[in-house]
Amino acid sequence: MQTLIVATHNAHKLREIGELLPDWKVCGEDSGADETAETFEGNARLKARAIAPRHHGAWVMADDSGLEVFALDGAPGVRSARYAGGDGDAAANNALLLKNLAGMADRRARFSCAIVLIAPDGTEHVAQGHCPGHIAERPSGAGGFGYDPLFVPDGLGCSFAELSAEDKNAISHRGRALAQVRKILAEIRP
Ligand code: IMP
Repeated sequence: MQTLIVATHNAHKLREIGELLPDWKVCGEDSGADETAETFEGNARLKARAIAPRHHGAWVMADDSGLEVFALDGAPGVRSARYAGGDGDAAANNALLLKNLAGMADRRARFSCAIVLIAPDGTEHVAQGHCPGHIAERPSGAGGFGYDPLFVPDGLGCSFAELSAEDKNAISHRGRALAQVRKILAEIRP
């Protein structure tokens, strides 16, 4: 089994990635990179490039993801984790999002995920995934993390936080980006 080093310290995310790439030994490592780019892809690239030099001959990958709300011009976007300031307080982020959307009829939103994969020879590959939906008037469900209790994916009458991990993975932005990664890896290493 080959090892894939993932630039994350988020155990929840690492587990999701491990479930979606069962043929790989998935290990997490903090990149230490500042997420200063203005796009998800740019931030994923910063993180992947930060850890690649520490792992010669290995595959490395990094993802960056977040929530984009149409009526808020794409906010919280790349600032999803720190929308309410500080260090990723999900309850404060969700409360601020509801406040900023108060009285708005257009609640369309999407989750986006970009993944940058660096092969042992240094070649870079990019995968993108999106999940369209809308922001509910109030939170529901106890699963998942971050904005999950407020996000209702198109075609479903419940929030991400009310889905099992498996059902969320099947339609989520990260699940879709990882499906592309799986395809890229299968083409390169059949
Ligand atoms: P990261 O930088 O990719 O780890 O994610 C940034 C932020 O986006 C997270 O802290 C969450 O607030 C939000 N986010 C990303 N993916 C999800 C998800 O699947 N559910 C809920 N929130 C998410």
